[in-house]
Amino acid sequence: MISVDEALQRILSYVSVLEPEEKPIPEALSQVLAEDVIAPFSIPPLDNSAMDGYALQAASTPGASPSAPVELRVVGELAAGYVFEGEVTPNTAVRIMTGAPVPKGADAVVPFEETEEAVHKAPMTVRHIDEMVRILREARPGSNIRRAGEDIREGQRVLTKGVVLRPAEIGVLASIGRTTVKVIRRPVVAVLSTGDELVEVGQPLPPGHIYDSNVYSLAALIERYGGIPKVLGIAPDTLEALVDKIHQGLDADMLLTSAGVSRGDYDMVKDVLAREGEIDFWTAAMKPGKPLAFGFFRSGQRRIPHIGLPGNPVSSMVSFELFARPAIFKMMGKTHWQKPAIRAIAKERIVNRDDPRRYFARCVVTEEGGRYYASLTGPQGSGILSSMAAANALTIIPEDVDVVEPGEEITVMMLDWSQGEEWGTA
Ligand code: AMP
Ligand code: MG
Repeated sequence: MISVDEALQRILSYVSVLEPEEKPIPEALSQVLAEDVIAPFSIPPLDNSAMDGYALQAASTPGASPSAPVELRVVGELAAGYVFEGEVTPNTAVRIMTGAPVPKGADAVVPFEETEEAVHKAPMTVRHIDEMVRILREARPGSNIRRAGEDIREGQRVLTKGVVLRPAEIGVLASIGRTTVKVIRRPVVAVLSTGDELVEVGQPLPPGHIYDSNVYSLAALIERYGGIPKVLGIAPDTLEALVDKIHQGLDADMLLTSAGVSRGDYDMVKDVLAREGEIDFWTAAMKPGKPLAFGFFRSGQRRIPHIGLPGNPVSSMVSFELFARPAIFKMMGKTHWQKPAIRAIAKERIVNRDDPRRYFARCVVTEEGGRYYASLTGPQGSGILSSMAAANALTIIPEDVDVVEPGEEITVMMLDWSQGEEWGTA
């Protein structure tokens, strides 16, 4: 039996970062950038107005105030998207909208709130007009003008290879006119359930059988963390069926199976792995989820990493979080694969006595008065999937800790940050 940390290191040593692909930007969300992105032009490209108001020369407004307004001749109107061909000269102004390029000659914009003007009719684009505006406050050169290049300068590296594309990065790419971007492709992860007792949902449930829930929870996890699930369905406990299904999964980047890795007579996944590939290890010191086979299958020149997850629904999900998720992240080019771990105060006694395994109990972490508290989600049997649905975190009780008393601080791994209402069973 090897430690959780060693198991993770061994798994990660078998997976590598995948190749880049060129993708339309809306589809690249959450993928890792595989190129440095250089701005082909500055943003904004021209000096433009930060306010709706009047573009003018600051020098035309000395001492302007509500009691001593300065009257300027309005020589034009300008909406965003248009360019004013004329020029602002001393004692003139152009009525300007936010985002419109500052006309030649102007060096400041005074917002409407600091003016008294005639009533205008919409819509307005660009035209020359001849009327007066009263400026109620002295303008300073540069005020309310967004400078060309203040966001991004031409030639600047705006996004660095290796970053994860979030909505903001997708927006930055669009702002410099990119339609596609080079990103590390998402891994295809094949997922297979094994066991004679399993039935596909939608089919009648004969006595002694259960519905295959693992393939759904695992496919959902693959999807959530950025992989592309390839669902192989159920293989009954016969060697031929298992080998046949596994072969269908060998074009994927990784293969996940559930069940068939403990010591039961019908647990054949390990045998097939030993025959058609290589087993690296097959138990990890964790609770739940001790049986865990890892190795790879051979398909021509390729080696396909295989994680044989335990069959118990909670064990398979917890093992996925600890091992499969980091492997998917690594293939996607991500470098941070740890879930956030925080300190929380145990609300109840947690017992891990006489067990040399790290204990990942399902718990609910809530924030009260600036501190985090953790309480277990009831019975912790590894078959009790509802304990997972009720949880937003897992405890990380070290191998050598026997008992945690209420009020003691523990480390918890956040699965998500929702608190109450949003998740799981009542
Ligand atoms: P095994 O590893 O084959 O001994 O399975 C351990 C436990 O997990 C047994 O109670 C199985 O019925 C259950 N189990 C195995 N596979 C699944 C699955 N795909 N969905 C739900 N439960 C499963
Ligand atoms: Mg079984």
